[in-house]
Amino acid sequence: MTAEFDLIARHFSRPVPAGMLGAGDDCALMPVPPGRQLAASTDMLLCGRHFFPDVDPAALGHKALAVNLSDLAAMGAQPLGCLLGLALPRADDAWLAAFADGFYALAERHGCPLAGGDTTRGKELAISVTVFGAIDPDRALPRSAAQAGDDIWVSGELGAADLALRLMQGSLPADPARLALARVALEWPAPQLALGRELAGIAHAAIDISDGLMQDLGHILAASGCGAELRYASVPAHESLQGVPEPVRRQALLAGGDAYQLCFTAAPARRARIEQAGARAGARVTLIGTVQAEPGLRVRLPDGGLLPPMPGGFDHFRDAHGA
Ligand code: ADP
Ligand code: MG
Repeated sequence: MTAEFDLIARHFSRPVPAGMLGAGDDCALMPVPPGRQLAASTDMLLCGRHFFPDVDPAALGHKALAVNLSDLAAMGAQPLGCLLGLALPRADDAWLAAFADGFYALAERHGCPLAGGDTTRGKELAISVTVFGAIDPDRALPRSAAQAGDDIWVSGELGAADLALRLMQGSLPADPARLALARVALEWPAPQLALGRELAGIAHAAIDISDGLMQDLGHILAASGCGAELRYASVPAHESLQGVPEPVRRQALLAGGDAYQLCFTAAPARRARIEQAGARAGARVTLIGTVQAEPGLRVRLPDGGLLPPMPGGFDHFRDAHGA
């Protein structure tokens, strides 16, 4: 339909770098540096499940790409380019222009040009982004590479996105000052690409925290056939959590999703190099636990006891925002 081509031409056809073929042909073409493997990842965002219908469209454009770039970061890959699939209930030009601005700004910041996509009319707004990256396969950070005895690290600070989500959903009492502090983490997550690339070849396993620290670390442990002990008191908390009741804090730090920080493991002999990697990437890195041979994830509390299993566990489908 003509309207569709016009819409693509107006909003999603900005030039791509020399050497690439972007939107307007049957396929996008992008060079992969010699000796590297292609890293590919795709993520879908659905209205009502992954974002509020009235979210700032620029923030949504940013986040749709950010959550995908975060997957490249967690593999240690360097972005090459991306594709954007859109199902739109209506063609709202002002909304699309803002969405495109948010998307392209992040794409430019990380050298991940938009090179094509698909656009269709749909009942509900749905956004699907596919990113491509390049990685030296010997330096990748697969989930299965953790080893007993490894340190467990996390980047940045946790808990803000979960706190913001709960405040906005009304499941916590309104607190505008706290929400103002926490909200940027939910709506404008910063993918840790520089850190991921610094860690490639130094760390063992990595994952980005999209579903909560315990659940995502659990994926590393399951894939690696290991267990772990996590020191709760060491988990770095975002400043917006200061003074919140302990159950809220615990949920936000251990089970809060949408953090897009990296959780990774590395041999203790690499501590200095991990610190240097963090410094070079401008990312705070914090040691929070140890990988162990015994299966299961044990959370050590400040009083020396272990966290009892949480009611319902950290089930993926328990929380409508997950999945
Ligand atoms: P085809 O019929 O070959 O699949 P389309 O009509 O779906 O082509 O798309 C036309 C061109 O516009 C393609 O090059 C495609 O990559 C690009 N395109 C479509 N939707 C988007 C979008 N949302 N963002 C970027 N490029 C897009
Ligand atoms: Mg198509």
